[in-house]
Amino acid sequence: MPKIDTTRDERPAVCPLDCADTCSLNVEVEHGRVKKVRGSSTNPFTRGKICAKVATGLQEQVHGPDRLERPLKRIGDRGPLATFEPISWTEAIETIYQNFESSIKAHGPLSIVPMAYGGPMGRLAGGSMDKRFFNALGAQQVNSSPLCAGITDEAYTSMFGESGGIAQAEFTHSKLIVVWGNNITACNLHLTKIIRDAQKQGAKLVVIDPKKTRIAEHADLHLQLLPGTDVVLAYAVAAELKRIKALDEQFLKENVVGVESYFAEAEKFSLEQAAQLCDLKLEDIEKFASYWKDIKPAAINTGIGAERNRNGGSGIRAALALPVITGNFGPKGGGVCNVSGYFPTNSQALQRKDLISDEHETLSILDIPDLILEPNAKKAPIKNLFIYNHNPVAVHPRQDRMIEALLKEDLFIVGCDITLTDSMRYADIILPAASHLEYSDIYTAYGHSFLQRSEAAIPPVGEALPNTEIFRRLAQRFSQSNSIFADPMFKESDESLIRTAVDPKHPAMVDRPEDSLKVNSPIDCSKDASGRDTPSLFRGLMPSTPSGKIELFSSTLEREYRQGLPTWTALERSHPFILVTPSSEKRTNSTFGNIEGHDSDVLLEINPQDALERSLRDGQAVYVFNQQAELLLNLKVSSNVKKGTLYSPKGAWLKHRSHTVNALIPGHKADIAGGACYNDTQVDIRACD
Ligand code: SF4
Repeated sequence: MPKIDTTRDERPAVCPLDCADTCSLNVEVEHGRVKKVRGSSTNPFTRGKICAKVATGLQEQVHGPDRLERPLKRIGDRGPLATFEPISWTEAIETIYQNFESSIKAHGPLSIVPMAYGGPMGRLAGGSMDKRFFNALGAQQVNSSPLCAGITDEAYTSMFGESGGIAQAEFTHSKLIVVWGNNITACNLHLTKIIRDAQKQGAKLVVIDPKKTRIAEHADLHLQLLPGTDVVLAYAVAAELKRIKALDEQFLKENVVGVESYFAEAEKFSLEQAAQLCDLKLEDIEKFASYWKDIKPAAINTGIGAERNRNGGSGIRAALALPVITGNFGPKGGGVCNVSGYFPTNSQALQRKDLISDEHETLSILDIPDLILEPNAKKAPIKNLFIYNHNPVAVHPRQDRMIEALLKEDLFIVGCDITLTDSMRYADIILPAASHLEYSDIYTAYGHSFLQRSEAAIPPVGEALPNTEIFRRLAQRFSQSNSIFADPMFKESDESLIRTAVDPKHPAMVDRPEDSLKVNSPIDCSKDASGRDTPSLFRGLMPSTPSGKIELFSSTLEREYRQGLPTWTALERSHPFILVTPSSEKRTNSTFGNIEGHDSDVLLEINPQDALERSLRDGQAVYVFNQQAELLLNLKVSSNVKKGTLYSPKGAWLKHRSHTVNALIPGHKADIAGGACYNDTQVDIRACD
């Protein structure tokens, strides 16, 4: 009989990464270490399948050579060659306390700026005790949504309010599926099977993307438009639908405001103009319009591809207007994918936003480097950064500007991460964060409707601590000089925080037992306790906009940005190529960028004709450059790439490079939400010889 190794075990977990799918995982653990990561069938949306990046990268993220295992103090210069020495947690907390306290005395609490983004997406690690701490401290409030999805969120909210749309799983009922600017193979993997199954049932698939992505290969119609012209395409199709009398006039009359002014703007774009401006075939746009006319129910899924340019908010709004003007709401399979309203989370109780002083002005995370380098006399100077759940050097536009800011000598930087990232190398003190396999948390999603819970699968590695415990310890130290931190809210356990995070009055939770959210037992928040659908847009919920109707003209956006209607602005060209930096199939944003084999896609993809015209060949090293920076990449010649565009996936780490593509990305902002314009980067290339 073979001896059974009782120290080997399978433990349930949830993938915490910034990805739509939030997969359930099975983690094989041996002697307290992760041996293997597989998908688990617990989550009905992800059904046991996970992406290769997590299957091959998570073990090394947790146990690899870059794992941070104890608090560190920097002893050399900041930057790629920084050196650190281990210190105790007590010394780390005390150093942070002393620096923050003296800064508060000299400059006020707004001189402390938390810089966080979507590292772990768990509700506890992603925003609970940390938020309470910074809110109570009076630190600067920072809006990180301009980095990603803020434009789409504001576009959606301007039209529909907070009322949730449909879950992606509903595509099984759709007869027309439009995937707009979403490379689902890289960042929404499990949607592929749903769409392919729907196609087998007769659904038509339209993919709108400048690149022939893998899902585009299966599309009935692929509209390979020029980046930034989405609003032109959608407006022209809207005008055509009006011309051919394919609007749902009854739905518009009863449920929509701004119809007349919307069409007055849309009718400025003929199909012929759209063909020219979007660089599409006229007959393809006609076909797209005919699909909207002839096929119901129709549903649309927008990714972040279309939002990342100066016309981004307008593009998303005009795309989302197509199911509106054709009345595709109500019946199963029709509508707009958006599950944000499905989840019974109580972020107020979790984050205690009531602690925020009314006088606080919120900063855009994109503006932090400029405010560090060129202090604004009207704003408190930034003297301390607390970087956590974020790798700004790898993620932000204007990489050189970010690095220049992090090098500022009078800036005290605390870094907190699982891994010694490019950004951590600029920190004065580094706090080792536990990975999501080392603590309990709960997870919502943005691709499906399942609320999930996890517990620690392994003990903390080294001296790493969960984010919640790190901020408990900081609060404990600050309680010695500031009585607010003596409040019991700063001692709340993770177990209690998980209960606090769930709103028992939400329709998804009513009549469920208090402990119904268990490990390996997700709750489908699209259903109530009796299995009935929870209310969503036009299924029990009307748009929660100021007018109570869908707003094609938004007074809110008019007031904020003079963007009552979507608009198209022709962009001046300074360089011949538009560089697109999409999601990678090797990394999730910058996670795993340090791991061997996870940066093999850091190449520059070019259309064969563009390569031929420049006498460039596959595999050749080229400089890609603009007025901001220049970097060397190897070319990959691919007919999937549209002529005039270049592709290099996001999330690479510097490693031995002086730059990544983020150095080329400009600082200008989108038409709404102050959003970053990653896909609005103009560049040129030349051979490296
Ligand atoms: S990154 Fe996305 S697809 Fe991959 S395991 Fe995590 S949630 Fe699933």
